[in-house]
Amino acid sequence: VLRSARPLQLTLAMLKPDAVAHPLVLEAVHETILNNKFLIVRTKELMWRREDSQRFYQEHSGRFFYQRLVEFMASGPMRAYILAHEDAVACWRSLVGPTKVYRARNTAPDSIRGAYGLTDTRNTTHGSDSVASARREIAFFFPEFSESLWYQQDEPRLR
Ligand code: ADP
Ligand code: MG
Repeated sequence: VLRSARPLQLTLAMLKPDAVAHPLVLEAVHETILNNKFLIVRTKELMWRREDSQRFYQEHSGRFFYQRLVEFMASGPMRAYILAHEDAVACWRSLVGPTKVYRARNTAPDSIRGAYGLTDTRNTTHGSDSVASARREIAFFFPEFSESLWYQQDEPRLR
């Protein structure tokens, strides 16, 4: 079933607390993952402490929405995924849609954020913005995961 001409790329996806709190949203996002031929390499549900939230979103410290974001991300359980796909980073970002809910609803109503985003902060999902970010974010959530081992173990099976 899983045939790939190009090597699979990895990305880090998160279902934020607003999405995990709503079974229908959770189910819709899972459908999006599977319908778009992503392979779920790893997944776990977890809850952040405020320090985790601050560390993950360090690049935004100082922005006006930082405190709000930090509180929100530590407000309830979330789910992290390592997703594999030929074009995982860009493909997942495009399925997630624009950051701001107004823009998402107006320019990408079928995207996850366009369909389910509540506010600019509570916008359902996260996707790594580059291959370098994906590496860093995968290590943040799954420190035990080895990309090179995964390729060695899984690629022959995937081809
Ligand atoms: P993205 O998640 O699309 O990569 P950013 O990296 O710019 O967006 O921001 C990280 C997260 O911070 C967003 O997903 C959103 O939850 C929150 N955020 C970003 N911009 C705003 C904003 N203008 N107002 C409120 N929250 C914001
Ligand atoms: Mg970002």
